[in-house]
Amino acid sequence: MTSVDELIRSIHEPRTDSHSGRPINLRTAGAAPSVSTCDTDLARDPWSIDQRPASTYGPGASVADLIPLGAPRQGKLPDEYTVATEAELERRIWDAKQALGDRVLILGHFYQRDEVVKFADFVGDSFQLARAATTQPQAEAIIFCGVHFMAETADILSKPQQAVILPNLAAGCSMADMANIDQVEDCWADLEALYGTEPDEQGRVPVIPVTYMNSSAAIKDFCGKRGGIVCTSSNAHTVLEWAFERGQRVVFFPDQHLGRNTAKAMGIPLEQMPMWNPNRELGGNTEQQLNEAKVILWNGFCSVHKRFSVAQIEQARAEHPGVRVVVHPECPMDVVDAADESGSTDYITKAIAAAPDGTTFAIGTEINLVQRLATQYPQHTIFCLDPVVCPCSTMYRIHPGYLAWTLERLLAGEVVNRISVDESVSEGSLLALERMLAAKP
Ligand code: SF4
Repeated sequence: MTSVDELIRSIHEPRTDSHSGRPINLRTAGAAPSVSTCDTDLARDPWSIDQRPASTYGPGASVADLIPLGAPRQGKLPDEYTVATEAELERRIWDAKQALGDRVLILGHFYQRDEVVKFADFVGDSFQLARAATTQPQAEAIIFCGVHFMAETADILSKPQQAVILPNLAAGCSMADMANIDQVEDCWADLEALYGTEPDEQGRVPVIPVTYMNSSAAIKDFCGKRGGIVCTSSNAHTVLEWAFERGQRVVFFPDQHLGRNTAKAMGIPLEQMPMWNPNRELGGNTEQQLNEAKVILWNGFCSVHKRFSVAQIEQARAEHPGVRVVVHPECPMDVVDAADESGSTDYITKAIAAAPDGTTFAIGTEINLVQRLATQYPQHTIFCLDPVVCPCSTMYRIHPGYLAWTLERLLAGEVVNRISVDESVSEGSLLALERMLAAKP
């Protein structure tokens, strides 16, 4: 099956299949009946975008999301990598990887493009990959083909002498960047002023901070140091139960949708889930709303998962009677409610693996993973709910050219693009991650 990258380029620059040499047929190229992309600039090479003085993330679903001022910027990639052919880059990557042997570990996120994932030693979600890093202590360098917060988590969990590398520093996560530590500290100060710090008669403190894995190390540290915890999309329910045993209410960073979908499934009414807008006084809430709150939701979201809609589900059901609609809990609540099931990337993968042959799936998550699952399980019909090809555009910034560059610099004895979490921040982050691991359903 044609990769997402080939599909996007073929839409904008009609091309031939790199293996067969035949023109790519858009109707059969992917499981998705897509013939358009969310942004024509996605077809351009990322280094042309990295050179722009940008205040937004560039092409893709998150184009309108603002990059925080202090976010790392990628410098210029040496010309030899931008002019190299796909075949040349592929050969250079394999050669460097082979020469480095087990001195290097390459990790590839589920949402990463196929042209990069094929070089990965492990493929998984952010937490699976961070844990994979801990199983390879002999690796001097861990090249994380994901986004910035994932590389930070790998750095926190790996050995101090291991260097974690993000091939393109522009690969941030727009959702993670929607909550910065200054805003979070201001929010906490307001909540403490309102609720005080005294526990109730059951020993529960007024509020527990919970952060999704998709957040900066600074916010994980903040949560760890205030009795809080991290969650993933697989264990958010368990983590909220853990938090409610210790606190009267929760403030949930940064994904409002994961927080709302999880709390709703636990029976918490929507009226008790006010949203916190960091640009407004008391987050845009009254004291009464906050006093009655059970879960205070930060107003962040994933621009990729926000694209899924109930109309797309209705269309999938009309066109494919009996279709199983499975969506990620980062999708809006009405989409999760209209789907047959919702769950993490791990849940989606296992649901497909366990289904009887001939099942038709409409999946609401990032297109690279959906296309890969469609290839991996040809006995099923699997397509993306979104008819428009729109990958996680920040992860998409990691082109094979950047991977070749980081590997060859490593071979020459130079570590480029190292992601290093300060010890003062990794301490609390580790605490919050360890609490998550210890939390049992
Ligand atoms: S898919 Fe969304 S939440 Fe995941 S890395 Fe991309 S922007 Fe961030």
